[in-house]
Amino acid sequence: MNLHSELKEILDELRRYFESQKILGLESVVLSYPREEEKPKAPMKQPTRIQDDKEKSVIKIEEQLDIFDQSAKKITLEEIREEIGDCTRCKLHQVRTNIVFGEGNPKARLVFVGEGPGEEEDKQARPFVGRAGQLLTKIITAMGFKRSDVYICNVVKCRPPGNRTPEPDETGTCEQFLFKQLRAINPEVIVCLGSVAAQSVLKTKERLGNLRGKFHSYGRSKVMVTYHPAALLRNPGFKKPLWDDMQIVMKEMGVSKGVGVSKGKEQF
Ligand code: SF4
Repeated sequence: MNLHSELKEILDELRRYFESQKILGLESVVLSYPREEEKPKAPMKQPTRIQDDKEKSVIKIEEQLDIFDQSAKKITLEEIREEIGDCTRCKLHQVRTNIVFGEGNPKARLVFVGEGPGEEEDKQARPFVGRAGQLLTKIITAMGFKRSDVYICNVVKCRPPGNRTPEPDETGTCEQFLFKQLRAINPEVIVCLGSVAAQSVLKTKERLGNLRGKFHSYGRSKVMVTYHPAALLRNPGFKKPLWDDMQIVMKEMGVSKGVGVSKGKEQF
């Protein structure tokens, strides 16, 4: 191999490495070269993300990688709920009635992730129990599952006032708990309902329309992005594409006889 192709191979390898780190949330790296006398005996820790006070609450790459490391110690859903406690880590705590942690089968093969609790969820401390939640329950049933078979949660655990979209500092602070929940459950498939969930799980700014209809990866889990049920309530035209996405999920999971399929059309 000549010098030119060797250099090209190294650069290609570096590019692939940084692209994979970018997917995991890396925004920048600090390059520093220690002076000879400052070189540590142990190997240097890899530079990760610039850390300042503003980023203290943002999940670090090491933690995100740890989520993908199947040999790392898992914590249970109960331990994660305990860790959240009576959380005041972001400003949403000022307006919430209840923390909505999530519910369902702790060993679920399928997890649905929404963006945040609404009014009814905030009152009942349960995810997806309002109108959009009832529609989600119908979708789950049409797929051939019971609600108790799957796990349902949100990116932020407290209701944004007036059901507004959670702001980046709120998702950035709270999503660490979602990542831990996903690690504890270790599902085969994660369905991201809406762009907030998709952007948080996949660390992307891509539009929902470009993400849906195909699988993405999160550790060993496959990720399907689709419309939030609340969007279906506003625009019934989203029903068909959502059901197309769920059929891809059902096929992947070997669930070919969902109610919706056997009747030839969606039942929600
Ligand atoms: Fe804490 Fe999450 Fe609620 Fe913010 S949204 S207060 S981080 S539990």
